[in-house]
Amino acid sequence: MHQSPDNDIRNILQSVYDPEIPVLSVVDMGIIRKLSRSADEVVVHITPTYTGCPAMDVISTQIRMALLAAGFPSVKIVQELSPAWTTDWISEEGKQKLKAYGIAPPIGKAIDSVWLEDLKVPCPQCNSTNTVLVSQFGSTACKALFKCLDCKEPFDYFKCH
Ligand SMILES: [Zn+2]
Repeated sequence: MHQSPDNDIRNILQSVYDPEIPVLSVVDMGIIRKLSRSADEVVVHITPTYTGCPAMDVISTQIRMALLAAGFPSVKIVQELSPAWTTDWISEEGKQKLKAYGIAPPIGKAIDSVWLEDLKVPCPQCNSTNTVLVSQFGSTACKALFKCLDCKEPFDYFKCH
C-alpha cells in the first residue's frame, strides 16, 4: 500500500504533459478536478479541455501510466463533463509557459469572449500588439493563427472558450 500524501500524486501529474502543448502539464492546464484514493486505488477526476480534441484519451492513458509507474497499484480515470473546462482554468504559471513556448495565452475571461478579429494579442516573440488574425484555426482547432506585423513572425493564439 502506497502511503504518500496527495502532494505526491500532484507532483507525478506535473510530469504528465498535454500531447498538443508539450510544455503544459495536466496540472497547468487545470484539467485535474479531484483526486481521491482508497487503500488500493487512486481515482483521478479530469475534465476534457475540448470535446473535439482527441488528445483526451491520450492524456487519460498517460495519467494512468505515470501513476502505475510510480507504484500505485490501481488507477481509475473519471471524466467529468460538467462544468465544462474553460481556458480560465489554465494556471498563471501555465500561461507563462505557453508564452515562453511561443503560443499567445488566452486573453481575458472565457465569459467575455470577443471577436478574434478585435483582439489585440501581444506577439509572444516581441510583445508587440501590432498583430493581425490570419486564420481562425491554427495548428489545431483550439488555436487561431496570428501574425506579428513588427517581427513578421506568425504565432498561435490559444483561443478563449
Ligand atoms: Zn513580434
